[in-house]
Amino acid sequence: MERMGLRREIDLALHLPLRYEDETRLVPLAAARAGETVQVQGTVRDSRVEARGRRQLVLRLQDGDDELVLRFLHFYPAQQKSWAVGQMLRVRGELRDGFFGREMVHPTVRVVAEGTPLPASLTPVYPVGAQLPQAYLRKAIDSALMRANLAELLPPGTVPAGLPALREALNFLHHPPPGAPLPALEDRSHSAWQRLKFDELLAQQLSQALAREERAHLRAPVLTSPAGGLPERLQAALPWGLTDAQQRVVGEIVADLGREQPMNRLLQGDVGAGKTVVAALAAATAIQAGWQCALMAPTELLAEQHFRKLVQWLEPLGITTAWLTGSRRGKGRKEMLAQVASGAAMLIVGTQAMIQEGVAFARLGLAIVDEQHRFGVAQRLALRQAREHDGESAGGTEGASPDCAGSRGQGGGALEAVEPHLLMMSATPIPRTLAMTYYADLDVSTIDTLPPGRTPIVTKVFADNRRPEVVARIRDEVAAGKQVYWVCPLIEESETLDLKNATETHAELGALLPGVTVGLLHGRMPGAEKAAVMALFSGGQMAVLVATTVIEVGVDVPNASLMVIEHAERFGLAQLHQLRGRVGRGAVASACVLLYTAPLADTGKARLRAMAETTDGFEIARRDLDIRGPGEFLGSRQSGDALLRFADLAEDDALLQRARDLAPRLLREQPAAARAHVARWLGSKAEFLKA
Ligand code: ADP
Ligand code: MG
Repeated sequence: MERMGLRREIDLALHLPLRYEDETRLVPLAAARAGETVQVQGTVRDSRVEARGRRQLVLRLQDGDDELVLRFLHFYPAQQKSWAVGQMLRVRGELRDGFFGREMVHPTVRVVAEGTPLPASLTPVYPVGAQLPQAYLRKAIDSALMRANLAELLPPGTVPAGLPALREALNFLHHPPPGAPLPALEDRSHSAWQRLKFDELLAQQLSQALAREERAHLRAPVLTSPAGGLPERLQAALPWGLTDAQQRVVGEIVADLGREQPMNRLLQGDVGAGKTVVAALAAATAIQAGWQCALMAPTELLAEQHFRKLVQWLEPLGITTAWLTGSRRGKGRKEMLAQVASGAAMLIVGTQAMIQEGVAFARLGLAIVDEQHRFGVAQRLALRQAREHDGESAGGTEGASPDCAGSRGQGGGALEAVEPHLLMMSATPIPRTLAMTYYADLDVSTIDTLPPGRTPIVTKVFADNRRPEVVARIRDEVAAGKQVYWVCPLIEESETLDLKNATETHAELGALLPGVTVGLLHGRMPGAEKAAVMALFSGGQMAVLVATTVIEVGVDVPNASLMVIEHAERFGLAQLHQLRGRVGRGAVASACVLLYTAPLADTGKARLRAMAETTDGFEIARRDLDIRGPGEFLGSRQSGDALLRFADLAEDDALLQRARDLAPRLLREQPAAARAHVARWLGSKAEFLKA
C-alpha cells in the first residue's frame, strides 16, 4: 500500500474502483444463458481431480434440477477440501456451453450456508499492485472510508451545481447500490465521478497557484542591457536576421529578465525552430548585466554542441565561457570550478552534473535548461533546489568579464535572497490543455514558425525488405556531396544488443558503400571519442554516420539530407520527430526513411502514419497524446507519480475551466480552505507538482 501511495486514510478513501462486480443477485441456473457473467448458487454433488491433458479440479454443482461443471486448472488442496461434496457454494463467472454440459472455468467461489444474505451494494474492484490481494485492500478501504475526515472543505456555492457532497460521492463510488447506472460509472460521467474529478483538478490548480504565489515573493536580479550592449552586438554579428517568431519570444524573455521576480518560462518551438540563438541572446543579456548564465543539456553530446555554437557566437564579444560535464575530471575540472566560483567564467555550459555536484556559482543570474522534457521530474526539482541554494550563496565575488561593464546595481545586502531566472526549452510542444494543467506555474513562449529557406522533409515508410533501395539512395546522396544519418533502434534494457546492432549495421554499410567514410557513434563510447566522431561528421569528412539514439537531441549538421531510422516501430513518436529533425536543417532537400519490421502493432502503425502525414511538431504532439494518453505523454512513468488519476483532459475540459476560475478566488477569499483541500488531495505529492 505504501508503494501505491496509500499512506493516509484519505489516500485510501480516494483510491477508487476500476469497475464493479454485481454480486447482489442470484440467477437460477435454469434462467442463465451461455456467454453471460452470472452468480449462481448450488450444492457440490461431485468433486474429483482429473488428469486428462492437464491436472484439474472438476466440481459438479447442482441447483434444482440443473447442473453446472466448475473447472479449476490452478487450485490449492485447502480449496479442494473446503469445496467438498455436500457444501453449498456461491460462484460467479462466465457461463459456457462445454463439451460435458454447462460450465464455468475459474469462477470466484464463496462457501455459504443456506440463507446467507446477498451484499446490498455492488462489489468494487480496485486497482491493486501485484502483491496486494483485492480482498485485503477492500477491507482497508472500507475501514478508512469510515474513519477518514471527509468533511466538506469547499465553501457552499463553489462546487459546480448538481454535483454531490464529497462524502456522498465517495460512498456511492465505493459501494454503488444494485441498479446503479453502470455505464455512467464505468465511463466516469456520473455526477459522483464528476465531483471527484473536479476536486482533483481544483487541487492541482491550487497547488500551482500556491507555487506561483511563493515565487512572487522571491527576488531575482534585474537583468537589462543598454543600447549597443552584448545582445545587440550578437544580433548584428549573426549571418541571418531573427524571424518574427524569434523576435517575439526574445522580447518576452527580455521583459521577464528585467523584472525583480524570477522568470519561470518555457520556450517551446519545433525541432529546428532556432531556440539556441534565443538562449544565446538571453545569456548575453544576463552577462551584460554582470551576472553569470548556466546552460544545461541532457547529454554531453548536446552540451558540447551548444558549447561550440555559443563559443563561436559569444567569445568574439569578449565573454569567457566554461564547459563542465561529469566526464571532465582532474586538474582541468578544478580550474574550471575555480573560474565559475570566482565569476571569471560568465557562461557555463554542461550537463546535469552541474546541479548534481553542487557547483558553486559566483553570481548566477540565469539558468537555461535545454530539452527540459528529457529531464525527469526529480531532476527538475533538484534544479529548483539548486537554484534556491545558489540564491542564498549569491553575492560576494565580483564578476570579471572584460566586456561587461553592465550595471551591478543590486547592492551587497539585497543579494542575499536573490535567485536566478529560469528558462526551459523544449522541442516537444505541450498541447494547450496540458500546459494549462501541468505547467500552470510556467509562462510559455512559442516559436511557431521555422526559419525561412527550409525545404520540407519528405518522409517514407518502408518495410525492411526494401533496405537495398535505401542503400542505393544513400550512395546517391553521398555522390551529391550530402551526408546521411542511419539510426539503429534502442532495444529496451539491452545496451549490449543495441551496440551489437549498431556495430553490425556499421560494418554492413561500410561493405556496401566502398569508398564512403562510414562512422559509428554510440552511448558507450568515451566522451572524447564521441566528440571526435561528431567533429568529423560536422566537418564533412565523414559522409555516413551510424548511430544509436545518442544523436536524438539537438545535433545540428545542416548538410545532412537523409535520415534512415531502422526498426522505426520501436521508437516513440516524440523520439521519431526529434530524430527526423536532425535533417532538413539547411536549404538542402531532405528525406527521412522509416524502416519497419512486420507485423506492426496498432500503436506502431498509428505512429508511423502520423510521421508520414505531418512534420508539424504540434500536430505530432497532439497525435502522441491521443495514442498514449496524458500520463504517459508527460513521462510520469519515470517519476512513478501519475499526476491526474481521475480527470481526463480530453473529456473534462469544462471541469478544468471551472477549477481554473475558482482557484484564485478561493485562495484570496478562503486561503485556509484552499490549503486544506490541497493537503487532502496531494499530501506529499504537492512538492512534485511544483517542479
Ligand atoms: P532548435 O530549436 O531545434 O534548437 P537550433 O537552434 O539548433 O534549433 O536551430 C536550427 C538551425 O537553424 C541552426 O543551424 C541555426 O543556426 C539556424 N537558425 C536559427 N535561427 C535562424 C534564422 N532566423 N534564420 C536562419 N537560420 C536560423
Ligand atoms: Mg536545440
